[in-house]
Amino acid sequence: MNLLGIDHGGTSTKLLLVDDDSVVDRATVATGSFADLDELADGLLAFLAGRPVDRFGLTVAGTLDPVTQVVLSSANLRWLDGLAPAALLAERLGVPGTAVQDGAAAATAEARLGAGRGAEDVFVVALGTGIAGAHVMGGQVRAGAAGGAGEIGHLVVTDGPLCSCRQRGCLETAIGGVQLGARWLEAGGVWSGPGAPTAREVVTAAEGGDPTAVATLATATDALARALLHLLALVDPGLLVVGGGVASAPRWTVEPAVRRLRELATFHRVPEVRLAELGSWAGAHGAVLAAGAVG
Ligand SMILES: [Zn+2]
Repeated sequence: MNLLGIDHGGTSTKLLLVDDDSVVDRATVATGSFADLDELADGLLAFLAGRPVDRFGLTVAGTLDPVTQVVLSSANLRWLDGLAPAALLAERLGVPGTAVQDGAAAATAEARLGAGRGAEDVFVVALGTGIAGAHVMGGQVRAGAAGGAGEIGHLVVTDGPLCSCRQRGCLETAIGGVQLGARWLEAGGVWSGPGAPTAREVVTAAEGGDPTAVATLATATDALARALLHLLALVDPGLLVVGGGVASAPRWTVEPAVRRLRELATFHRVPEVRLAELGSWAGAHGAVLAAGAVG
Protein backbone atom coordinates (compact mmCIF):
# COMPACT_ATOMS: atom_id res chain seq x y z
CA MET A 1 0.00 0.00 0.00
CA ASN A 2 1.28 3.49 -0.86
CA LEU A 3 0.81 5.97 1.94
CA LEU A 4 1.41 9.72 1.89
CA GLY A 5 2.29 11.55 5.09
CA ILE A 6 1.84 15.33 5.13
CA ASP A 7 3.29 17.16 8.14
CA HIS A 8 1.76 20.60 7.68
CA GLY A 9 3.74 22.74 10.12
CA GLY A 10 3.64 26.47 10.73
CA THR A 11 6.92 27.03 8.87
CA SER A 12 7.60 24.00 6.69
CA THR A 13 5.54 21.18 5.25
CA LYS A 14 7.18 17.76 5.08
CA LEU A 15 5.96 15.15 2.60
CA LEU A 16 6.75 11.46 2.94
CA LEU A 17 5.73 8.78 0.46
CA VAL A 18 5.96 5.26 1.88
CA ASP A 19 5.44 1.93 0.13
CA ASP A 20 4.96 -1.00 2.54
CA ASP A 21 7.17 0.47 5.27
CA SER A 22 9.97 1.69 3.02
CA VAL A 23 10.36 5.38 2.21
CA VAL A 24 9.99 6.02 -1.53
CA ASP A 25 10.43 9.79 -1.55
CA ARG A 26 10.43 12.82 0.72
CA ALA A 27 10.35 16.58 0.32
CA THR A 28 10.28 19.73 2.45
CA VAL A 29 8.32 22.73 1.18
CA ALA A 30 7.78 26.16 2.77
CA THR A 31 4.25 26.19 4.21
CA GLY A 32 3.94 29.84 3.18
CA SER A 33 3.96 28.76 -0.48
CA PHE A 34 0.42 27.37 0.02
CA ALA A 35 -2.21 30.09 0.51
CA ASP A 36 -5.04 27.59 0.97
CA LEU A 37 -5.87 23.89 0.81
CA ASP A 38 -6.32 24.00 -2.97
CA GLU A 39 -2.74 25.16 -3.34
CA LEU A 40 -1.58 22.51 -0.86
CA ALA A 41 -3.40 19.89 -2.98
CA ASP A 42 -1.64 21.25 -6.09
CA GLY A 43 1.68 20.89 -4.26
CA LEU A 44 0.87 17.30 -3.25
CA LEU A 45 -0.08 16.34 -6.81
CA ALA A 46 3.16 17.88 -8.10
CA PHE A 47 5.15 15.89 -5.51
CA LEU A 48 3.36 12.65 -6.41
CA ALA A 49 3.94 13.29 -10.15
CA GLY A 50 1.51 10.55 -11.13
CA ARG A 51 2.73 8.01 -8.58
CA PRO A 52 -0.19 6.14 -7.03
CA VAL A 53 -1.22 6.71 -3.42
CA ASP A 54 -3.88 4.74 -1.51
CA ARG A 55 -4.31 6.78 1.67
CA PHE A 56 -2.93 9.97 3.18
CA GLY A 57 -2.47 11.38 6.66
CA LEU A 58 -2.26 15.11 7.43
CA THR A 59 -0.98 16.68 10.63
CA VAL A 60 -2.69 19.76 12.02
CA ALA A 61 -0.77 22.14 14.27
CA GLY A 62 -3.59 22.91 16.63
CA THR A 63 -6.71 21.38 18.09
CA LEU A 64 -8.91 19.09 16.07
CA ASP A 65 -12.46 17.86 16.68
CA PRO A 66 -11.90 14.10 17.02
CA VAL A 67 -15.26 13.24 15.42
CA THR A 68 -15.75 15.78 12.63
CA GLN A 69 -11.99 16.39 12.03
CA VAL A 70 -12.73 20.12 11.86
CA VAL A 71 -9.79 22.31 12.95
CA LEU A 72 -10.95 24.11 16.09
CA SER A 73 -7.91 26.33 16.52
CA SER A 74 -4.60 26.48 14.69
CA ALA A 75 -2.22 28.98 16.28
CA ASN A 76 0.06 29.42 13.26
CA LEU A 77 -2.32 28.76 10.35
CA ARG A 78 -5.49 30.67 11.21
CA TRP A 79 -6.99 30.10 7.75
CA LEU A 80 -7.45 26.41 8.67
CA ASP A 81 -9.84 27.22 11.54
CA GLY A 82 -13.32 25.82 10.92
CA LEU A 83 -12.21 23.70 7.95
CA ALA A 84 -12.05 19.90 7.68
CA PRO A 85 -8.77 19.77 5.73
CA ALA A 86 -8.57 15.98 5.29
CA ALA A 87 -12.02 15.85 3.68
CA LEU A 88 -11.13 18.70 1.30
CA LEU A 89 -7.79 17.12 0.33
CA ALA A 90 -9.47 13.71 -0.12
CA GLU A 91 -11.70 15.27 -2.78
CA ARG A 92 -8.73 16.69 -4.67
CA LEU A 93 -6.50 13.60 -4.34
CA GLY A 94 -9.33 11.14 -4.94
CA VAL A 95 -8.29 8.89 -2.03
CA PRO A 96 -9.34 8.71 1.63
CA GLY A 97 -7.29 10.37 4.31
CA THR A 98 -7.33 11.53 7.89
CA ALA A 99 -6.13 14.45 9.99
CA VAL A 100 -4.17 14.02 13.20
CA GLN A 101 -2.93 16.52 15.78
CA ASP A 102 0.77 17.16 15.08
CA GLY A 103 2.10 16.45 18.57
CA ALA A 104 0.19 13.18 18.79
CA ALA A 105 1.46 12.16 15.35
CA ALA A 106 5.09 12.87 16.24
CA ALA A 107 4.84 11.11 19.61
CA THR A 108 3.20 8.04 18.09
CA ALA A 109 5.91 7.80 15.45
CA GLU A 110 8.70 8.26 17.98
CA ALA A 111 7.16 5.61 20.25
CA ARG A 112 6.50 3.07 17.49
CA LEU A 113 9.25 3.67 14.94
CA GLY A 114 11.88 5.77 16.73
CA ALA A 115 13.50 5.63 20.16
CA GLY A 116 10.50 3.83 21.69
CA ARG A 117 10.54 0.98 19.17
CA GLY A 118 9.57 -2.27 20.86
CA ALA A 119 8.40 -0.64 24.12
CA GLU A 120 4.75 -0.92 25.15
CA ASP A 121 4.54 2.05 27.49
CA VAL A 122 6.36 5.21 26.44
CA PHE A 123 6.06 8.83 27.53
CA VAL A 124 7.39 11.20 24.85
CA VAL A 125 8.45 14.73 25.82
CA ALA A 126 9.12 17.31 23.09
CA LEU A 127 11.25 20.24 24.26
CA GLY A 128 10.76 22.91 21.61
CA THR A 129 9.47 26.47 21.61
CA GLY A 130 6.53 24.86 23.36
CA ILE A 131 6.82 21.81 25.61
CA ALA A 132 4.56 18.90 24.70
CA GLY A 133 4.07 15.44 26.13
CA ALA A 134 2.22 12.31 25.12
CA HIS A 135 1.71 8.98 26.83
CA VAL A 136 1.78 6.28 24.17
CA MET A 137 0.55 2.85 25.24
CA GLY A 138 0.44 -0.01 22.78
CA GLY A 139 1.19 2.45 19.99
CA GLN A 140 -1.78 4.71 20.79
CA VAL A 141 -1.65 8.15 22.41
CA ARG A 142 -3.74 8.44 25.56
CA ALA A 143 -5.36 11.75 24.66
CA GLY A 144 -7.57 12.07 27.73
CA ALA A 145 -11.35 12.46 27.93
CA ALA A 146 -11.29 15.85 26.19
CA GLY A 147 -7.97 15.55 24.37
CA GLY A 148 -6.09 17.56 26.98
CA ALA A 149 -3.76 14.93 28.48
CA GLY A 150 0.03 15.12 28.43
CA GLU A 151 0.45 18.88 28.94
CA ILE A 152 3.71 18.51 30.82
CA GLY A 153 4.78 22.00 29.69
CA HIS A 154 2.12 23.49 31.94
CA LEU A 155 3.05 21.73 35.16
CA VAL A 156 3.92 24.50 37.64
CA VAL A 157 7.49 23.86 38.77
CA THR A 158 9.00 27.28 39.58
CA ASP A 159 7.84 30.56 41.09
CA GLY A 160 8.68 32.08 37.73
CA PRO A 161 6.95 34.28 35.18
CA LEU A 162 3.46 34.33 33.70
CA CYS A 163 2.90 31.63 31.08
CA SER A 164 0.81 31.89 27.89
CA CYS A 165 -1.69 29.60 29.69
CA ARG A 166 -2.17 32.28 32.45
CA GLN A 167 -0.51 30.23 35.19
CA ARG A 168 2.81 31.25 36.70
CA GLY A 169 5.95 29.12 36.76
CA CYS A 170 5.07 26.52 34.13
CA LEU A 171 7.86 24.25 32.88
CA GLU A 172 7.53 25.95 29.48
CA THR A 173 8.55 29.32 30.97
CA ALA A 174 11.74 27.70 32.30
CA ILE A 175 12.95 25.63 29.35
CA GLY A 176 10.84 26.44 26.27
CA GLY A 177 13.27 27.38 23.47
CA VAL A 178 12.39 31.08 23.32
CA GLN A 179 11.67 31.38 27.05
CA LEU A 180 15.12 30.02 27.89
CA GLY A 181 16.64 32.90 25.93
CA ALA A 182 14.42 35.37 27.80
CA ARG A 183 15.44 33.91 31.19
CA TRP A 184 19.12 34.27 30.21
CA LEU A 185 18.66 37.96 29.31
CA GLU A 186 16.74 38.60 32.56
CA ALA A 187 19.63 37.06 34.49
CA GLY A 188 22.05 39.48 32.80
CA GLY A 189 23.06 37.48 29.74
CA VAL A 190 24.77 39.59 27.08
CA TRP A 191 23.34 39.31 23.58
CA SER A 192 23.78 41.63 20.61
CA GLY A 193 21.47 39.87 18.16
CA PRO A 194 20.27 39.50 15.54
CA GLY A 195 16.82 38.70 16.94
CA ALA A 196 16.10 37.33 20.39
CA PRO A 197 18.31 34.52 21.74
CA THR A 198 16.83 31.03 22.02
CA ALA A 199 18.01 27.81 23.66
CA ARG A 200 20.65 27.36 20.97
CA GLU A 201 22.32 30.70 21.80
CA VAL A 202 22.17 30.04 25.54
CA VAL A 203 23.87 26.67 25.03
CA THR A 204 26.51 28.28 22.79
CA ALA A 205 27.17 30.90 25.48
CA ALA A 206 27.42 28.19 28.16
CA GLU A 207 29.87 26.23 26.03
CA GLY A 208 31.92 29.44 25.78
CA GLY A 209 32.08 29.64 29.57
CA ASP A 210 29.37 32.28 30.19
CA PRO A 211 28.47 31.73 33.88
CA THR A 212 25.02 33.36 33.46
CA ALA A 213 24.16 30.92 30.68
CA VAL A 214 25.44 27.98 32.75
CA ALA A 215 23.29 29.11 35.71
CA THR A 216 20.22 29.68 33.49
CA LEU A 217 20.54 26.17 32.07
CA ALA A 218 20.98 24.72 35.57
CA THR A 219 17.73 26.41 36.68
CA ALA A 220 15.97 25.17 33.53
CA THR A 221 17.13 21.58 33.92
CA ASP A 222 16.15 21.61 37.60
CA ALA A 223 12.64 22.67 36.53
CA LEU A 224 12.57 19.88 33.93
CA ALA A 225 13.64 17.34 36.57
CA ARG A 226 10.82 18.50 38.87
CA ALA A 227 8.25 18.18 36.08
CA LEU A 228 9.54 14.70 35.23
CA LEU A 229 9.33 13.75 38.93
CA HIS A 230 5.60 14.63 38.89
CA LEU A 231 5.26 12.64 35.69
CA LEU A 232 6.82 9.56 37.31
CA ALA A 233 4.52 9.89 40.31
CA LEU A 234 1.40 10.06 38.14
CA VAL A 235 2.21 7.88 35.14
CA ASP A 236 5.18 5.60 36.03
CA PRO A 237 6.05 5.19 32.34
CA GLY A 238 8.06 2.21 31.13
CA LEU A 239 10.33 4.41 29.02
CA LEU A 240 10.93 8.15 28.66
CA VAL A 241 11.81 9.56 25.24
CA VAL A 242 12.94 13.19 25.07
CA GLY A 243 13.28 15.14 21.83
CA GLY A 244 12.81 18.59 20.32
CA GLY A 245 15.25 21.38 19.53
CA VAL A 246 16.17 22.06 23.18
CA ALA A 247 17.15 18.38 23.57
CA SER A 248 19.58 18.61 20.65
CA ALA A 249 22.24 19.72 23.15
CA PRO A 250 21.65 16.87 25.64
CA ARG A 251 24.86 17.51 27.60
CA TRP A 252 23.36 20.84 28.73
CA THR A 253 19.70 19.87 28.96
CA VAL A 254 18.52 16.24 29.09
CA GLU A 255 21.56 14.71 30.81
CA PRO A 256 21.72 17.14 33.77
CA ALA A 257 17.92 16.97 34.11
CA VAL A 258 18.02 13.17 34.39
CA ARG A 259 20.88 13.35 36.93
CA ARG A 260 18.82 15.82 38.97
CA LEU A 261 15.75 13.60 38.59
CA ARG A 262 17.67 10.69 40.13
CA GLU A 263 18.67 12.93 43.06
CA LEU A 264 15.09 14.09 43.64
CA ALA A 265 13.44 10.67 43.32
CA THR A 266 12.35 9.02 46.57
CA PHE A 267 9.65 6.38 45.99
CA HIS A 268 9.69 7.07 42.24
CA ARG A 269 11.04 4.53 39.76
CA VAL A 270 13.22 6.39 37.23
CA PRO A 271 12.82 4.61 33.89
CA GLU A 272 15.33 4.42 31.08
CA VAL A 273 15.56 7.75 29.24
CA ARG A 274 16.35 7.81 25.52
CA LEU A 275 16.84 10.69 23.10
CA ALA A 276 14.32 10.88 20.25
CA GLU A 277 15.54 9.52 16.91
CA LEU A 278 13.22 10.78 14.18
CA GLY A 279 14.00 14.48 14.61
CA SER A 280 12.01 16.86 12.44
CA TRP A 281 10.53 13.95 10.43
CA ALA A 282 8.60 12.47 13.38
CA GLY A 283 5.38 14.29 12.42
CA ALA A 284 5.52 13.08 8.81
CA HIS A 285 6.09 9.48 9.95
CA GLY A 286 3.16 9.89 12.35
CA ALA A 287 1.00 11.13 9.47
CA VAL A 288 1.92 7.98 7.53
CA LEU A 289 0.95 5.82 10.53
CA ALA A 290 -2.40 7.65 10.70
CA ALA A 291 -2.88 7.09 6.96
CA GLY A 292 -2.26 3.37 7.43
CA ALA A 293 -5.00 3.23 10.06
CA VAL A 294 -7.65 4.72 7.74
CA GLY A 295 -10.30 2.09 7.07
ZN1 LIG B 1 1.56 27.28 31.20
